[in-house]
Amino acid sequence: MKRYSMFAVAREAMRYHAGWERAWRSPEPKKRYKVIVVGAGGHGLATAYYLGKVHGITDVAVIEKGWLGGGNTGRNTTIIRSNYLQDASAAIFDKALQLYEGLSRDLNYNVMFSPRGLLMLAQSEHERRGYQRTVHANGLQGVSTQWITPERVKELVPILNIDGPRYPVLGALYQERGGTARHDAVAWGYARACSNMGMDIIQQTEVTGIRRQGDKVAGVTTTRGEIDCEQLAIVVAGHSSVLAEMAGFRLPIESVALQAWVSEPIKPAIDVVVMANLVHGYLSQSDKGELVIGGGTDGFNNYTQRGSWHHVEETTRALVETFPIISRLKMLRQWGGIVDMTGDRSPILSKTPVEGIFVNCGWGTGGFKSIPGSGFAMAELIACGYSPLAAEFNLNRFKEGRFIDESVAAGVAH
Ligand SMILES: Cc1cc2nc3c(=O)[nH]c(=O)nc-3n(C[C@H](O)[C@H](O)[C@H](O)COP(=O)(O)OP(=O)(O)OC[C@H]3O[C@@H](n4cnc5c(N)ncnc54)[C@H](O)[C@@H]3O)c2cc1C
Repeated sequence: MKRYSMFAVAREAMRYHAGWERAWRSPEPKKRYKVIVVGAGGHGLATAYYLGKVHGITDVAVIEKGWLGGGNTGRNTTIIRSNYLQDASAAIFDKALQLYEGLSRDLNYNVMFSPRGLLMLAQSEHERRGYQRTVHANGLQGVSTQWITPERVKELVPILNIDGPRYPVLGALYQERGGTARHDAVAWGYARACSNMGMDIIQQTEVTGIRRQGDKVAGVTTTRGEIDCEQLAIVVAGHSSVLAEMAGFRLPIESVALQAWVSEPIKPAIDVVVMANLVHGYLSQSDKGELVIGGGTDGFNNYTQRGSWHHVEETTRALVETFPIISRLKMLRQWGGIVDMTGDRSPILSKTPVEGIFVNCGWGTGGFKSIPGSGFAMAELIACGYSPLAAEFNLNRFKEGRFIDESVAAGVAH
């Protein structure tokens, strides 16, 4: 494929943009692949990309029941950070952040990574102590974060009310390298690079069954026929337990809806990302000017991509105290995605009881930020049978009680 560059834009402008090629091919599925990845979200596409780029495995198909990036990858609030408490989490999320820092160049695709800085507000004594502990842990992990005072918070976010009567701001955990990226572009960039390596991205094709030969994977049944493979990666977020059931094992995953919404566009008002985890709302401003707002998950299992109305009301109400100016804004649209939650709120990157089948799931409400690191580790696990970054996130931890408890550590794992 032709490289994207300033010169290419200039050249195409001269001929009315008629010469651009399609960003990825839409091939007919072959009968057999070495590796099949189910799910063309960010994690599935990144897995395929690093299989090709790092391990030279390009006989790969990525099978997607809808359109690529149409799952949670295209529905999230794009927050990127690596300030986790537990060592295993910090390692994989920081690997992801490092890869994000060079991703546009690596993929030759502008993913609009914007390291604008991220603040996690402490609005109770408990949170203050928790975040100060995280800053110390991050120091030991080599992840640079800092504790900042309420006055510094106000300097960074002038529209923030630090003296709220119920939830005053006591300081914040600040990660300067944190920020956002354009979610669709991340999926599209990986897809284009995979297609360029000769991999097949097969959209509008649902995997309806997983075929086994004894304890080994043989292939998948899809709405476009049967396809054989030597190795199968299940990377389908909210549908992970559905696919696991097809393969004959169970996963400790619950599927729930998480939603987000945006305001009408306004002039630039906030140039950092703010998470207010006590009141459970987070906010940033998109390049279009909309305030992008997210809240908590539904309190019950479901597969709807909507989310309950009371969350919109509760989160907006909570954020209005901290950001009084948003009380005058109209909310434009709201949407939801199905997230895959584990008990310890940490992901699963693991071999499974079926030889040749791997799972990558459980990223729950916080897996956009990890896409490059997750894909890198998953590719290593599939190609080499072991990945240091993935090692602690295996399925056995639920049997052995070795939880990587980010939910208790952070209260929130977005
Ligand atoms: C509202 C919301 C806000 C969020 N905010 C953030 C945030 O700010 N920061 C952050 O880091 N994370 C956030 N997340 C979480 C993040 O979006 C996810 O963790 C991440 O996108 C998961 O990516 P994925 O590739 O695993 O899944 P997905 O992008 O959901 O991809 C899975 C794909 O599998 C496909 N699939 C399912 N079943 C089948 C089948 N049988 N056959 C073929 N294909 C199938 C689906 O169609 C889907 O495209 C948010 C999520 C939501 C919903």
